[in-house]
Amino acid sequence: MKVLVTEEKIREAVERLGKKISEDFKDEEHLLIIPILKGAFVFAADLIREINRDVEVEFVRSSSYVNTESSGKVKTSIYISTDVKNKTIILVEDIVETGITLENLTNILLSSGAKDVRICALLDKPMKRKVEIDVDYIGIEIPDSFVVGYGLDYNNKYRNLKDICILDEESK
Ligand code: 5GP
Ligand code: MG
Repeated sequence: MKVLVTEEKIREAVERLGKKISEDFKDEEHLLIIPILKGAFVFAADLIREINRDVEVEFVRSSSYVNTESSGKVKTSIYISTDVKNKTIILVEDIVETGITLENLTNILLSSGAKDVRICALLDKPMKRKVEIDVDYIGIEIPDSFVVGYGLDYNNKYRNLKDICILDEESK
């Protein structure tokens, strides 16, 4: 498979994001980091170790059902075992494409009483965006190809690759 983002470039991006988040939230009382499973677990594990302040971590799994027949609406159901009321939250995502997943989660968290919801994504495919969302922290912009590795999968394979690679035909 062709390497798109090397392990080293990933590390640089993660360090930069962690540093920025540490600065931006140094005076915030409570910071809750919510990685979106499964894809973001590798990124989040590295990211939180670049944040030099207290953080609470909770995971969500976003299952989106796209109703292609009618409106193309996405339903997201989440369960979080902590109270989000008055907390500043950073949603951690592996990659943003249409933005629908993040828009949904943000709305759910805000309506549950979160003080503020920010978004941190390792990868961004801006040309695929369908809804307008503010991605506050972006690691690396990539072209419109399907990528795997560093947590990202193809049918649950390749999450363990150290680099981010473009999935080729032979690897499907
Ligand atoms: P969206 O922004 O369209 O709501 O969804 C983004 C989600 O689609 C990501 O969390 C990820 O699960 C999946 N996704 C989008 N692009 C890719 C890609 O290139 N590779 C992989 N493995 N997943 C992707
Ligand atoms: Mg995902």
